[in-house]
Amino acid sequence: MSKELFKYQALFDSNMLGVTATDFNDTIISANDAFLSMVGYTKEDVANGTLRWSVISPTKYDATDQLKVKELLTLKTIIPFEKEYIHKDGHVVPVLVGAETLSNDLSFGASFALDISNLKESERRKDDFAAFVSHELRTPLSVMKLSADMLHVLISQDGDKNELLETTDQINEQIDKLAALISDLLSMARYQGNESAFTLSAIDIHENLLRIAQELSSINNRNVLFEGEKNLLVMANADRLSQVVVNLVNNAVRYSKDGTDIHIELSSDEKCAYIRVKDHGIGISEENLKKIFDRYYRINHADDYSLNGTGIGLFICNEIIKQHGGGISVESELTKGSTFTISLPIIGT
Ligand code: ADP
Repeated sequence: MSKELFKYQALFDSNMLGVTATDFNDTIISANDAFLSMVGYTKEDVANGTLRWSVISPTKYDATDQLKVKELLTLKTIIPFEKEYIHKDGHVVPVLVGAETLSNDLSFGASFALDISNLKESERRKDDFAAFVSHELRTPLSVMKLSADMLHVLISQDGDKNELLETTDQINEQIDKLAALISDLLSMARYQGNESAFTLSAIDIHENLLRIAQELSSINNRNVLFEGEKNLLVMANADRLSQVVVNLVNNAVRYSKDGTDIHIELSSDEKCAYIRVKDHGIGISEENLKKIFDRYYRINHADDYSLNGTGIGLFICNEIIKQHGGGISVESELTKGSTFTISLPIIGT
């Protein structure tokens, strides 16, 4: 085997990328496992010619593909570009594709493909998020502008005092919404700017949770009830830990009905302390459970529950707890409620 071919064989076998040997016409001579799983075909499909470029490449890429083949003829290589393949089950797989020819006449060479579905999904979420944020910023501003105009009229006409109070309340409500949104955005910017480093010290979690629960004890007609083990020490940053618990409790409130209780519980085993925030709310479907800690991920609920969120909170909670050497997990059942569990390594045992 030539040195050149040996290099491709090693890449082929490593399965880090999808690699194929091809005649750059329609034939895929061989394909490694990474490529086959990317497009859902088998080695037999390669051997009997079922797997061909024309089968997996959407026709909308024909013109680009032809240009790229010309590039291959002149440069002997293709500068990687984004396109899509059609998986055997019909779904579209976004890929980054490159190729190199190993002959002068393009009769033989190697092509490479990297599955970029996750990247594309995260780009899409980022775009949705930008659209969502600009909408969320504009709506309270419009309401505030209308209310301010209304105030102007009421004051200039010596209007009804109750109406005046109602209008200022409306303005205040919108200011709170904006403040919450800006605070989420600032937390996000801090984490992106790598300013997240914070100092840890030994803290008594029971004491801290008791304080948080007392501060939150009755928000939005909910009781926040705390019980749990005493004398558990963890290395933590009290402010950041409080930020996480408050966030989880706020979510518990936001995604449950008026009058239902929220529980904060503290327990431990020989390694970790476990803080559980439990609600009896709308719950989270199995499919969404895997994604809710992703940045910008929000569930589109059918009703008012979707309002006023950014999909940033849980992402940041997860980042903070990871930096404490711990983790967050969630168990949930639709319509029954959710339990978020923070685990933190304990010290002094
Ligand atoms: P958001 O600002 O949208 O609440 P989060 O990152 O805090 O963003 O949460 C992501 C998504 O997870 C939310 O949109 C919501 O659908 C879901 N979620 C979070 N906490 C709960 C909970 N306690 N009960 C039900 N759904 C929840």
